[in-house]
Amino acid sequence: MKIKFLGGCKEVGRSAILVDGEIILDYGLRPSDPPEIPLRSESISPKSVIVSHAHLDHSGMVPSLMTGMDMAPDVYMTSVTGDLTRLLGRDTIKVGKEQGFNFFSKEDIRKMDEHTHPVAFGDRIALDGSLGGDYELELCNAGHIPGSSSVYLRKESEDISLFYTGDIKTGETRLMESASASDFPTSDILFIESTYYGREHRNRKELEREFIDSITETLDSGGNAIVPCFAVGRTQEIVMILHSYGLTPYVDGMGLSVFGLFKNHPSFLKNAKALNAAFSDAQFVNSKRRKKALSEPSVIVTTAGMLNGGPVLYYLKKIHEDRRSKVLLTGYQIEGTNGRRLVEEGCVEADGEVVKVNSQVEQYDFSAHAGDSELKEIVSRFCRNGTGIIFTVHGDNTEGFATWLRENYGCDAIAPQNGEEFIIE
Ligand SMILES: [Zn+2]
Repeated sequence: MKIKFLGGCKEVGRSAILVDGEIILDYGLRPSDPPEIPLRSESISPKSVIVSHAHLDHSGMVPSLMTGMDMAPDVYMTSVTGDLTRLLGRDTIKVGKEQGFNFFSKEDIRKMDEHTHPVAFGDRIALDGSLGGDYELELCNAGHIPGSSSVYLRKESEDISLFYTGDIKTGETRLMESASASDFPTSDILFIESTYYGREHRNRKELEREFIDSITETLDSGGNAIVPCFAVGRTQEIVMILHSYGLTPYVDGMGLSVFGLFKNHPSFLKNAKALNAAFSDAQFVNSKRRKKALSEPSVIVTTAGMLNGGPVLYYLKKIHEDRRSKVLLTGYQIEGTNGRRLVEEGCVEADGEVVKVNSQVEQYDFSAHAGDSELKEIVSRFCRNGTGIIFTVHGDNTEGFATWLRENYGCDAIAPQNGEEFIIE
């Protein structure tokens, strides 16, 4: 089996792995300014594309694989990932018009839709390779966001298999059932995300309490609590948390459309009823009602989670001088994003101008990724079941993770570089 890494190595963003020159696992977009896309050192014309989940850094460039193709590749993903990928694809076109990039067209999204095969968790699907390989595919719940999958792929002719975790969470959240690593198939090769290698998550209940206390304090002081959230997953999780503590947020941005879409796929949610209840109490905001949302002490859940565009910039520009107000970041801030800049330099760029933010800024780790000990437990389980080679991907310290695994588990662990190729027999 030939593996080539096209992105997502020693970095978080633009995940893309090419298998045997004909199957692509994820094809993402790093949402920095300007966005970064997977390597294109050779013309890629895959036969199949497998999408682990709908976050842009995994799915964002999939429509571009349809551009100019007579024989467009087949795309395999869960039904909810398919719906989300279309929604986010349309948004990427819109953002591209504003920011001056153009990776694919509406026609490419339509073509992707036409070639998409929805896959249910646990189903075994046969993929025919154009180069003579024949493969078997299975998607397993990865517990990260609704529809997120870990990917099992077995090449029958060589009797070799791989397991790609995608982004994975083995602890429970309000939105998602945890991934169950004990149900994963055994495999020869493991690709594991490394986002939280070396870092443990805080106790979730304590974290929620602190977050709520901080918001309550802001409201009591007469300020606005701005809660930037990723549209997919985090917005819904945060609205559920606020609702459970009796707080009614304003919700603005694409997280609302994503909620509308999740409603159509209740089987991918831990508790569809609780999600619906939380959103039926929330106040929805569009561009006309933003002023009103700020006219009183309020909590505003809005996109984008890393502050690269979206209504959050409107709110930041309005509250940036108000020291009573607070920005409560709810997730990992990738290097090169506005969110990282806010944390490190106390300012953001909005509509071409640098805005100094004097309001308080706090960061909360509501991560939907496995923490350090969970990652190690996943690897340990695979090794016990005969996995021989491990690739650490999707992290700022994949090298450190690979070294740790070699030293502590004695396994063959590698932190690949973008563009690197491996032949595994
Ligand atoms: Zn993700």
